Amino acid sequence: MPPLSFGSITVDEVDVPLLHEKKIRLAVLRLDKIHPIISGNKWFKLKYYLDEAKNSGRKNIVTFGGAYSNHIVAVAAAGRLCGFKTTGIIRGEKPAILSHTLKQAIAYGMLLIFISREDYRSKNLPGEIRNSDEFYLVNEGGYGIHGAKGSVEILTYCKKEDYSHIACAVGTSTMMAGLVKAAVAGQEILGIPVLRNIEGLEKDLINLLQAEGREKSFRMIHAYHFGGYAKPTQELVSFMNEFYKRTFIPTDFVYTGKLFYGVMDLVRNNFFPGGSNLLLIHSGGLQGNLSLPKGTLMF
Ligand SMILES: *Cc1c(COP(=O)(O)O)cnc(C)c1O
Repeated sequence: MPPLSFGSITVDEVDVPLLHEKKIRLAVLRLDKIHPIISGNKWFKLKYYLDEAKNSGRKNIVTFGGAYSNHIVAVAAAGRLCGFKTTGIIRGEKPAILSHTLKQAIAYGMLLIFISREDYRSKNLPGEIRNSDEFYLVNEGGYGIHGAKGSVEILTYCKKEDYSHIACAVGTSTMMAGLVKAAVAGQEILGIPVLRNIEGLEKDLINLLQAEGREKSFRMIHAYHFGGYAKPTQELVSFMNEFYKRTFIPTDFVYTGKLFYGVMDLVRNNFFPGGSNLLLIHSGGLQGNLSLPKGTLMF
């Protein structure tokens, strides 16, 4: 497995006619280049959990996820890289054919345990895990204070004070919390949730921000989830192909495709004042595209 490569991160200017017309600059922080599997925000979100696991002598990282979870495969790969055993507790019956994501997780040495949707909802740990004292539990999606703390470091890979707005895709809101914590005065952090869960998400974010939430400027825009998690509509897929043709920036259909679509749509609808300088976080996730039928995407 290749090592993590933070030197590969670039800030790419996007140059398309719509942005000229609206007098808006837009750059992309390419966290997708860090690693093919532990890509995007995932290393930032995991690093302080892994530190704590190591410092407390735990050997097995246990976490929750669905069949297409970038978090699951990132934990598997990061565990392999850092010398941990890993266990993925997966929602639902074991399917006859495993998703590409789960096959990858197994290839990195993760033990998968499938549990019923009910047990998953209540986050019941299987007995064999509960009774062992070596495990370290990471929340579903890496949600939590340690994940937000790691995500603060994302903005050290660009000149953050240059931007009027910084936008990211939102799953659990952990990365967004880190960006809000790192934001400078006058800057707005925009989150584009990929799930349909308006109230829950805002609360989750506020919980992570605590007092800092009152001083910073941030908002979620709930208009671009395309029907919910991992739903690739034709419109989204066409946008992703068109965007790639113009910019050579690949996006994923679960997160960054919706982020880029949403921000371009906001630009078109004059959401941003002329002269705005936007930064989009490319939070990775490209491995998820391997679950699409061949030929869906041109990249
Ligand atoms: C996991 C993931 C996210 C979501 O991050 P949260 O911190 O859970 O909001 C966004 N984009 C990509 C590509 C991801 O894999």
